Amino acid sequence: MAKICVIGSCSMDLVVTSNKRPHAGETVLGEQFSTVPGGKGANQAVAAARLGAEVTMVGCVGDDFYGTAIMDNLKKNRVFTANVEPVTHVESGTAHIILAEGDNSIIVVKGANDLVTPALVERALENIKGSDMVLIQQEIPEETVSYVSEICHKFNVPMLLNPAPARPISETIINNATYLTPNEHECAILFSEMSTAEALRKYPNKLFITEGSNGVRYYDGKQEVLVPTYKVNAIDTTGAGDTFNAAFAVALAEGKSIRTSVKFANRAASLSVTKFGAQGGMPTRVEVEVSL
Ligand code: ADP
Repeated sequence: MAKICVIGSCSMDLVVTSNKRPHAGETVLGEQFSTVPGGKGANQAVAAARLGAEVTMVGCVGDDFYGTAIMDNLKKNRVFTANVEPVTHVESGTAHIILAEGDNSIIVVKGANDLVTPALVERALENIKGSDMVLIQQEIPEETVSYVSEICHKFNVPMLLNPAPARPISETIINNATYLTPNEHECAILFSEMSTAEALRKYPNKLFITEGSNGVRYYDGKQEVLVPTYKVNAIDTTGAGDTFNAAFAVALAEGKSIRTSVKFANRAASLSVTKFGAQGGMPTRVEVEVSL
């Protein structure tokens, strides 16, 4: 069983559907309301656990109702939560999502996710050192990502950085990361000073660009490779990237080759888009393996 340590955000998505998007100062009636656990960190932790990994989550929740619900959801999905710390006087991270007129509007409140500090990471050091892979994203402070990258480099723990949401990152983090998995939009921001082809050549077997229904592109040291994903009836692509990253980390941590790992992750992510919701669509190990 691969040991994965996920360091990142845990949030609650508060989703309301309405026929009409309210203007400033206006009140409208909505149709439905739901609370759905989310956050890139928690999503990737749940996806990795469903794929059979032993997963430790390192993160923060507020001392509120949502914090308890986020923790319960992680535990229900067999994610080890001893390093998810409840903090006082700060709310849990939330995303306020309005689905109206065929589009979404989202306000994210970082809340406790802003308190995923290097000190909190330090308290999880033994778990990090004992992992086959550290999986991290950018919904936590940059100094924490930087610190984790240094620890992973120092203790020889492979680190997969999913650089989402997009922001420019330091050369040190890029060099310390073992794998980088931006989508096309994130890649353009990450390597704004060079073309995609140049970036791929500069980081062979390290930079993996996800291209939605196209698949995944990387440079294998000799040539550029596009690993096509699987054709599916896509219903909801929310969380496709999260499932891809978790599955890629699990396969690599199990010692599978890069090519096989990308294929496995494409299969898992393509299955995830055939169902509603980020975590709702994440497949189990068996579901991926029977369809490979
Ligand atoms: P993000 O969700 O982060 O924007 P992408 O849209 O690139 O990332 O999707 C990540 C991965 O999910 C893709 O590389 C692919 O494996 C899979 N995927 C996404 N959309 C589809 C789709 N419509 N059909 C099949 N696979 C998909």
